[in-house]
Amino acid sequence: ASAASLALTLTACGQSGEGGSKEEGGDTKGATIGIAMPTKSSERWIADGNNVVKDLESKGYKTKLVYGEDDPDQQVSQIENLITQGVKALIVAAIDNKSMNNVLQQAADANIPVISYDRLILGTKNVDYYASFDNEKVGELQGNYIVEKLGLKDGSKKGPFNIELFAGSNDDNNTRYFFQGAMNVLQPYIDKKQLVVRSKQTALNQVTTLRWDGGTAQKRMDDILTSAYKSERVDAVLSPYDGISIGILSALKSDDYGSKSKPLPIVTGQDAEVASVKSIIADEQSMTVYKDTRELAKVASNMVDAVLNKKKPEVNDTKTYDNGAKVVPAYLLTPVSVDKNNYKETVVDSGYIKESDLK
Ligand code: BGC
Repeated sequence: ASAASLALTLTACGQSGEGGSKEEGGDTKGATIGIAMPTKSSERWIADGNNVVKDLESKGYKTKLVYGEDDPDQQVSQIENLITQGVKALIVAAIDNKSMNNVLQQAADANIPVISYDRLILGTKNVDYYASFDNEKVGELQGNYIVEKLGLKDGSKKGPFNIELFAGSNDDNNTRYFFQGAMNVLQPYIDKKQLVVRSKQTALNQVTTLRWDGGTAQKRMDDILTSAYKSERVDAVLSPYDGISIGILSALKSDDYGSKSKPLPIVTGQDAEVASVKSIIADEQSMTVYKDTRELAKVASNMVDAVLNKKKPEVNDTKTYDNGAKVVPAYLLTPVSVDKNNYKETVVDSGYIKESDLK
């Protein structure tokens, strides 16, 4: 090989020496960016991966996209491989937000900037920027929907109504923000006994759902219905994510909810997944929270492009997201509440979901 092509090969392997990527300025264009996504079991992450790839490629980058199958160890070794393969920046949506210390130290040692994608990585200073949505707002939208639809918010009804609470995976930092946001709204009504949690499971550690698994949520809802609802009815269920909502609805339907004499409770959700938007149209799930992940992909790709070109990425929050080692500068997008009344103007008109997929 000629000296030139050898040098190229070495650069591509990330062995160009100290601070390689940072010194190259405009030459970063052909660089490869590593993208680590958590799972293919949910539509949104498949779309996230594809959109980030598309955006980075349109800026002239190459990409390597990996999925961790919801297994934290697998994800860590995938990121190690990306580092060995010489990626110039990393975009990571972590499975276990506390499992990244060692691997991100390796990234830092190799001068690789890291963008925490959607979920904040905790406990390490080796996270440069955070691209996400206003996660507390997500929970507030869910909580508000419940108290509005029950008539508690405008005072037209006084209750008491029965509610059950579900949260996401305890190893995902977003979980506590979603739950906090929802409880900001719901707790005052619980305190006034206008909302009653018959299962008595109200603490975050009693209501989490490992790896956001719908089957796990279904089982927990089954158990709650058997133990706490002999003659009573559930009026609302706080669910943090569409896959969990679908599990909860299955449990409710097998207990005869949804029949003429036993209406389904209000059930919230998140992500505007096709199955859940269909369920909303069919009057089963009540709402979802739409987060345009195409925009999130753009934010993350712009961050990478800025950092590699030694520019400051655009951020709009520099105080909320303390990961235990530092406050990570963030760009937060705005989530939108979606139900049967506005799904057309929101998810369909924006092209997020094709109308034909909802048939
Ligand atoms: C994301 C949600 C998603 C959940 C399960 C969270 O970190 O913010 O959009 O519903 O993970 O995949």
